[in-house]
Amino acid sequence: MSRLWNRRVAALDPYVPGEQPKALDLLKLNTNELPYGPSPRALDAMRALCDDSLRLYPDPTSLTLREAIAACYATTIDRVFVGNGSDEVLAHAFRGLVRDDAPLLFADVTYGFYPVYCELFDQPYQNIPVRSDFTIDVRDYVAPCGGIAIANPNANTGIALPLEQIEWLARSQPDCTIIVDEAYVDFGASSAMSLTERHDNILVVQTVSKSRAFAGLRVGYAVGHPDLIDGLTRIKDSFNSYPLDRLAQAGAAAAIEDAAWLMETTARVVATRDALAEALKDRGFQVLPSCANFILVHHEDHSAVNLQRLLRERDIIVRRLSHPRIEDWLRITIGTDRDSDRLLTAIDDIRAN
Ligand SMILES: *Cc1c(COP(=O)(O)O)cnc(C)c1O
Repeated sequence: MSRLWNRRVAALDPYVPGEQPKALDLLKLNTNELPYGPSPRALDAMRALCDDSLRLYPDPTSLTLREAIAACYATTIDRVFVGNGSDEVLAHAFRGLVRDDAPLLFADVTYGFYPVYCELFDQPYQNIPVRSDFTIDVRDYVAPCGGIAIANPNANTGIALPLEQIEWLARSQPDCTIIVDEAYVDFGASSAMSLTERHDNILVVQTVSKSRAFAGLRVGYAVGHPDLIDGLTRIKDSFNSYPLDRLAQAGAAAAIEDAAWLMETTARVVATRDALAEALKDRGFQVLPSCANFILVHHEDHSAVNLQRLLRERDIIVRRLSHPRIEDWLRITIGTDRDSDRLLTAIDDIRAN
């Protein structure tokens, strides 16, 4: 608290990101980063730019990057927006594409940043409870609202929603923007990108942080009707007209063009995930069916708090979310097969003691 803070900053309850420890020997399974490095082609593209050209501002429209995204999803650049991480893209969407005289609807168990943006922007919101099996029932979202945000696959559970249900919702709520946050979609869910051609109220938001192994770059993007993109651009140009630096624009464009790298890497993560889920089930864990690069797990005989602490004592960090409905669950990021072995050895050791 400071006497120089205004009421708005004093009232904030900021998002708390997962721990980023300095110690390198820790096995970090807490923030859904990939265990593999990004596309070598992307790193080369960035290295080639480390010269005097960095004295110049970057392209404020990120044209080359937006062209790469448009080509990747078979669309046009007037339907593509980019920002400094998908967090920033989501923030602009919450600020500009949701009516503020009615609540924004989102699940009670979902990405923890949604309520934080609403508080920051004085946006009313309403949590819609997920069912007891943690699935989303889209019929619950047919209520008066200023907009809808759905993470698909859902954050923290990894459960994916079939595209037909998103399309049904877009038809049922024609005057609301449906923000579909697809941070994890490349690990096995279906993307709503193609729906954006038929429905002018669907905005699909993706990121290079997760499936492209580029969390350190901070690039996210949205695809939707040109009117939605214009709205986002108006916000961006009223806030920071150069959100993406030169290296980020070039690195993200090359990463998005490297489709073979994405296919191969996500397939490895999916194989590791499915094997780890089975191994944990064999050890008595309940594991939610995940289409993401993490799994949410629960054990009747071991509280999540204790398990998290005992893993930490064995140099493994996993995430526990504070929401009451999942506070006795642990979210485990998928690493390499060797990381899984190390985790399972630690769990066997804990259970033997
Ligand atoms: C990680 C994550 C984001 C943020 O991604 P950045 O592009 O790194 O800002 C957005 N939504 C969900 C659901 C996420 O898990």
